[in-house]
Amino acid sequence: MSKMSDDKPKFLIKSGKRLDGRKPDEVRPMEMTVGVIPNADGSAMVVCGKTKVIAAVYGPRELHPRHQVLNHKARVRVKYNMLSFSVEDRKRPGPGRREVEISKVLSEALERVVLTDRFPMCAIDVFVTVIQADASTRVAGLNAASMALADAGVPMRDLVVSLSFGKSYDEKGAGHMVVDLEKEEDNWGMGDVAYAVAPALNEILLLQMDGDLTPEEFAKGRQMADEAAKAIYDMQKQALKAPYQEGSK
Ligand code: ADP
Repeated sequence: MSKMSDDKPKFLIKSGKRLDGRKPDEVRPMEMTVGVIPNADGSAMVVCGKTKVIAAVYGPRELHPRHQVLNHKARVRVKYNMLSFSVEDRKRPGPGRREVEISKVLSEALERVVLTDRFPMCAIDVFVTVIQADASTRVAGLNAASMALADAGVPMRDLVVSLSFGKSYDEKGAGHMVVDLEKEEDNWGMGDVAYAVAPALNEILLLQMDGDLTPEEFAKGRQMADEAAKAIYDMQKQALKAPYQEGSK
């Protein structure tokens, strides 16, 4: 049986190292691949530690139901879904309140970068599926979604770069800011933030906070996240170029 993470750990950071050995400003090992679903117009997979997410894009295409049509621009519709086997306890299938909320915030973030006015009356459908969840799934999903849109050739102002940051306690109970939270840090940490930016535009596209952070802690976490975002941005661009460099697309 898999280990449950129900017991509060004594610390999330000890001697400057996190439970998985990372430094506070270190993201988990990441893998990014585009074109993972050939039947979609665009797709991407993002692996971030034990979190694994796939995004598939269909469109721009005719929008149904017709009453949702916008005459002057496309609608970017996101469906975020966490598969039943993606978590330790089987997750109840189908969209709950959490999925509805995440779908909405992801769609709002993506609408800010997609040139929606190029495709009036159309739908651009983005399906974000969490295959394995170990926290930070919405931010991994957003990274995958923006790459899948780029892979589909949908014109955008920038890619979306997204990650989480938060506050973890050490063996003495003192708080420290960390980036890219894994499950125990998300469960037991003193505060967490889902954060997304369009780096080239210097715009924030997602900001959701749970728990308590002082303005100083928030600023410090954001600074660490912006620094880590640079590496994620480079990885995304590299993954988008890879199929062409290998001559396989
Ligand atoms: P995010 O995945 O974006 O961090 P949450 O903070 O809502 O979003 O969830 C944190 C983590 O909690 C998820 O990544 C997942 O590992 C776990 N989780 C969320 N919902 C469930 C659920 N219904 N059953 C079991 N674990 C869940």
